[in-house]
Amino acid sequence: MGLHRLSVEELQAALRSGECTPAEIYASCRAAADSAQPHIRAFNRFEDGPPPPRGDAGSAPLHGIPYASKENIAVAGRPLTCNSRILANYRPPYDATVTERLRAAGAMLLGQTNMDEFAMGSSTENSATGPTQNPWDLARTPGGSSGGSAAAVAADAVPFALGSDTGGSIRQPAGCCGVVGLKPTYGRVSRWGLVAFASSLDQIGPITRTVRDAALVYRELAGHDPRDSTCLPAPVEDPLAGIEQGPRGLTLGVPRALLKEGLDREVAANLDEVLARLAREGASLIEVDLPMMRYAIATYYILATAEASSNLARYDGVRYGVRAQASDLDEMYRASRTRGFGREVTLRILLGTYVLSAGYYDAYYRKASQVRTLMRREVVAALSRCDAIVLPTSPTPAFKLGERVDDPLQMYLSDVFTVSANLTGIPAIAVPSGLTRAGLPLSLQLMGRPLQESLLLRAARALEQVCGFAALRKARQPLPGEGVPA
Ligand code: GLN
Repeated sequence: MGLHRLSVEELQAALRSGECTPAEIYASCRAAADSAQPHIRAFNRFEDGPPPPRGDAGSAPLHGIPYASKENIAVAGRPLTCNSRILANYRPPYDATVTERLRAAGAMLLGQTNMDEFAMGSSTENSATGPTQNPWDLARTPGGSSGGSAAAVAADAVPFALGSDTGGSIRQPAGCCGVVGLKPTYGRVSRWGLVAFASSLDQIGPITRTVRDAALVYRELAGHDPRDSTCLPAPVEDPLAGIEQGPRGLTLGVPRALLKEGLDREVAANLDEVLARLAREGASLIEVDLPMMRYAIATYYILATAEASSNLARYDGVRYGVRAQASDLDEMYRASRTRGFGREVTLRILLGTYVLSAGYYDAYYRKASQVRTLMRREVVAALSRCDAIVLPTSPTPAFKLGERVDDPLQMYLSDVFTVSANLTGIPAIAVPSGLTRAGLPLSLQLMGRPLQESLLLRAARALEQVCGFAALRKARQPLPGEGVPA
């Protein structure tokens, strides 16, 4: 029946009409995940089977819908390794708020997904257990750090997955894999139970195949949580209510000056083509100037590493982390951390410690915090003139595995368009927008006003409609064994 290929919304309809049961959906997704796994390695592990039935289609909004969860989000009693050696043995005794909410909504966890160690990376190659492959081209990365989640959704193993986004880790892999990824406003979704990377930037969000599904899942994740002091008490409106209003009446801002350098030609051409289509359908386009955005990557790598160096201090082999044998305490700390952390994580802890150290704090950390304030003012001012800002999600389509591992700057530049939404706290979404001549997904990003996810999702739905990606998705070559009926 191919249940694993259906969207959340289609599955809900099939359940309501009695065409299938949650157990059948789960089995279909699990079979698809099993057949994809040897080729793309999106999952770290699978659940033994579906959870006991909870609620019904009428009362629980995601009743009978399977999902995958990035392995930096706590699920009670399950591993929470962040794909790091240092957390190889760690199992949290509690659920993250999002895990709890999805369970209450009737969603069924299928498995946990691969990621760059501690969510630091843009290709999933920093995972201590090896990379994930892109289902569109197995020689390419799925992006990162939520590469496992994006690949699992793109390979039709689950209709949705959770990711976390500190500088682009939901949107950039969604872009590489031809799926939708939403980073909500900072504080919209509780971070309780998310392993902290950079606490002032981290947000959890959904990865889905359609914009409507992103809205459906977002609606369950969002809302106040007293256990996360940064979680906002603002009411969450129903993002589906106005989502079909289309491009007419939308004003979209285009920061042309930022798009002059370093853009892949097909990415640039796709942006122009989609903007022209949106304009034909009645959207107004205006130019916006965001000069501070030039400093986004530099600012991000100061603030994110500073926060990471502090957050990761807890992995010392005593309270958390695999403990190395040593003759004294200092040596034990050193050996545990040296063996436990991979290269990129070590690099970032060193960088972060440096920018916070006496004598450098003012030059780096304080300066970056000031730039961040200016960026926020600038982007909020631009968003008072338009409903959303449009940019490519990433300057290039999915790159080859191995291509950027020895070139950290190139790797960091994958996020040149995504980090500013984290630095400024605004919501942003990646939407598949076309295919390159070689058949790789292209993606555009929309950035919206704080707490106005509904408007952002409406704009994203309009963009999705003019791009018609649902038809292009069929161009993906099936993985070996894929399509064999379960
Ligand atoms: N790629 C960026 C980094 O390496 C963003 C990661 C993320 O959003 N978690 O820091």
